[in-house]
Amino acid sequence: MPKLKYLTALLLVLTLVACGDDKKEDKKQPVAKKETVKKEFGFVLNNYHVVHDTIKNGDTFGGLLQKQGYSASDVYNVTEAIRDSFNLRNIRIGKPYTLLKNKKNPDSLEVFVYEADRLNYYVIDLRDSIAKAYKRSRPLTIKRRTIAAAIEGSLSKTVQNLGASAALTQELSEIYAWSIDFFKIQKGDKFAVTINERYISDTIYAGLESIEAAYFETRGNKKYAFPFKQDPEKNLTDYYDEEAKVLRSMFLKAPLKYSRISSRFSPRRFHPVQKRWKAHKGTDYAAPRGTPIMATASGKVIAAGYTSGNGNYVKIKHNSTYTTQYLHMSKIKVRRGQYVNQGDVIGLVGSTGLATGPHVCYRFWKNGVQVDALKQKLPSSKPMAKKYKPAFMQHMKPLKKELDSISNITFKK
Ligand SMILES: [Zn+2]
Repeated sequence: MPKLKYLTALLLVLTLVACGDDKKEDKKQPVAKKETVKKEFGFVLNNYHVVHDTIKNGDTFGGLLQKQGYSASDVYNVTEAIRDSFNLRNIRIGKPYTLLKNKKNPDSLEVFVYEADRLNYYVIDLRDSIAKAYKRSRPLTIKRRTIAAAIEGSLSKTVQNLGASAALTQELSEIYAWSIDFFKIQKGDKFAVTINERYISDTIYAGLESIEAAYFETRGNKKYAFPFKQDPEKNLTDYYDEEAKVLRSMFLKAPLKYSRISSRFSPRRFHPVQKRWKAHKGTDYAAPRGTPIMATASGKVIAAGYTSGNGNYVKIKHNSTYTTQYLHMSKIKVRRGQYVNQGDVIGLVGSTGLATGPHVCYRFWKNGVQVDALKQKLPSSKPMAKKYKPAFMQHMKPLKKELDSISNITFKK
């Protein structure tokens, strides 16, 4: 890793030197040859006396100018001149600004740069008799990389260790929501992804742009996922495996994103509240109170109410075969008769009814019989149309090769 950083830094320096030719904004003489050219906001900083600061409580643009020796009428003229291009009221506490002052005469402020966010900044050019202001954005670049790792601790921790955005954890758990039980992920499970990431000015990491390919391996079982649009006309991307089988299925693996299974479906268990042996015809997912509960499949809400045992609960009929139910909610978010989509939030985790702590008891019916949701072989959603398959295979093969070769390198012992 340090080597990579050094390389990036070196490349950056080379780039800066290479694009040392000036934009129109800078009228100063080029700097002496041996000095490293530092360029920012479209100015060669070497030509100025540079002051970096942040907006403090009580600071105003006018006040900052006055501190630089501007009279009240100068401030008025400047603010009038730039009024249309820079809203002075938008100056926020904590935002960085930069003063470019004349190198020979540090009392003379020439340029004021206000950074609205990491990407956008405003330049207030005070060099001419009439001030001008304009907005610029730092260049956003996309960098692509393929990474592979074994799970250490948790998926989010592992992703963090790879220097990737938390959004990657989120995306992966969504891509695999139908095919991998994230509650069963264990140490040593592996994954590899090819991702595109955003960088501001080539150096400042600005998050995940997209995933091109992925595989996830749990207990030796490898699941590939490649995003693909079947119909380029429609903006519908789905994920397919290496055989063009769609990953999405009719049901999500669980009604919650992150939690743990606290009690499984069993014909006999000791009830923690009632203190007696009885069947547990559901799967309990423990999670903090208020965690959103999702409909595991689309359907019609056929019950939403309260009983002393269930607490606040919701029951959804998905089709003539399947029905699901969600118990002990702190809050119900749907009404009886309402249609919900897969993944819609139908309530929040709580401990109403017969419950010792916050959890959702997830119940599953197949043809009117309560069954263990975790043991069902559930139907997939729409398969890929035959006519798109050749294009998909052609698109997928090099991506798969990339994932495989990086995992060969990473996991080879
Ligand atoms: Zn339960």
